[in-house]
Amino acid sequence: MKVLKFGGTSVGTVESLRNVKQIVESIDGRVVVVVSALGGLTDRLISTAHMAEKADQSYTSELLAMKSRHYDIVNTLVPENEREDLKSSLDELFGRLENVYKGISLLEELSPRSLDKVVSFGEMLSSRIIARIIDNATLFDSTEFIKTVNRFGRHLLDSDRSNRLISHTFGNCDFKVAVVPGFIASDSDGITTNLGRGGSDYTAAILAANLGADVLEIWTDVDGFMTADPRIVSGTKVIPDLSFTEAMELCNFGAKVIYPPTIYPVFHKNIPIYIKNTFNPSARGTCIYDIKDRKSQDNAIKGVSSINDSCLLTVKNDRKIKNLASRLLNNLTRNGISVLLVSHANTPDSITFSLPQSDIERAMEALSKEFEAELETGEFHSPVVEMNLATIAVVADNMKSFAGLTDRLHRLLNENKIDVLAYSQGQPETSVAFVVPMDKRTLSLQTIHDEIFAMIPTVV
Ligand code: ADP
Ligand code: ASP
Ligand code: MG
Repeated sequence: MKVLKFGGTSVGTVESLRNVKQIVESIDGRVVVVVSALGGLTDRLISTAHMAEKADQSYTSELLAMKSRHYDIVNTLVPENEREDLKSSLDELFGRLENVYKGISLLEELSPRSLDKVVSFGEMLSSRIIARIIDNATLFDSTEFIKTVNRFGRHLLDSDRSNRLISHTFGNCDFKVAVVPGFIASDSDGITTNLGRGGSDYTAAILAANLGADVLEIWTDVDGFMTADPRIVSGTKVIPDLSFTEAMELCNFGAKVIYPPTIYPVFHKNIPIYIKNTFNPSARGTCIYDIKDRKSQDNAIKGVSSINDSCLLTVKNDRKIKNLASRLLNNLTRNGISVLLVSHANTPDSITFSLPQSDIERAMEALSKEFEAELETGEFHSPVVEMNLATIAVVADNMKSFAGLTDRLHRLLNENKIDVLAYSQGQPETSVAFVVPMDKRTLSLQTIHDEIFAMIPTVV
């Protein structure tokens, strides 16, 4: 069995949906097809919710535009004898969405729960349509088997419960093509939730792992995983093969092509991931797998990625607190804050972490709780924060074999008048990372990319 995921970029237009139909119908065995909302629709659902929140009545014309976009696709791609039935099912969804917007507008209030409800309509709508476009397809409702719990104000996957429900749902069902809305989920009370922006990739990986798929294919709008984000760096190339760890590291450091938690479930089951282009299906794409016996030419630097809007948090260390570094790190990670790097560049008198800027308030709160007593005695100094930074990572398995690379890149950035505010060697040595001012992000990425892919033999 194969699991295929088609992102918003692949299901946005009549032309792209024709490709999706062809790709899926050309597969012999059973296939699970996970779909995103039509390209750009989730953003539009959100911006319309904000209009309603301000009681701006133009939300109704936005709703009409969204409606006609879906109905245009139905009128072009769905056989005539199935259209009325499908349209009445879409009417029912749009009627519910309109009521949600009306409620938001009347109350002039948009709670996280209402917003979760609003965004869920994107995948509900697209999956209903796609299940009618593809021959022999059966539609499934992912809110019945993808379950989340709330932690640190976010929805996290409830793996055990989801796995039990997926086995139950798919174990008792005979299908040729299962169409599943990505991204959306529900909590233990049945309230609609989701797996976070970009989460359809994750839905597909959870299903692939549970159902023991032979392969997970992520179909998108580029020829594969590239050496850097092609929208901001010129001269990028497709990376033919990546190990799971390399892919995880690139995604954790911002490569948007795969939603970061996606890789873990399939890595755990050793299921390969292919990144493929819906608009160029014959291109091989990128294969992500467990590379045990790497050929020597594969021992190359794979790519560069960046997390925008990072910040640095520096704590003075005057040795009054035992194990300060590990207490800081444990506290941050226990509170769900992703530490992007622990700096090697600081003096022994301080410890520096790079974090996503959006986590800084929670980080400061967590640390002031943890060190409450020491703050009072003056043993702990309130952290110093620097905002508006980017964390850039260079990724390869066995980073150690590239002796002198960190120093060389550091020097290169300085030569280009880019201040390196912190840097690190990743654990377990799959990356080196640099923190630079946000307004130097593009220049840093381009400089590093040009240097590395000229200097070191790549697999591309
Ligand atoms: P989808 O709608 O298919 O989920 P996304 O927009 O989430 O598509 O992801 C695909 C996009 O990711 C590409 O169009 C590309 O611009 C961007 N991207 C960022 N970094 C990379 C990278 N290293 N390799 C390929 N694409 C990347
Ligand atoms: N539609 C959702 C989003 O735009 C999920 C996804 O596309 O993966 O974030
Ligand atoms: Mg995506």
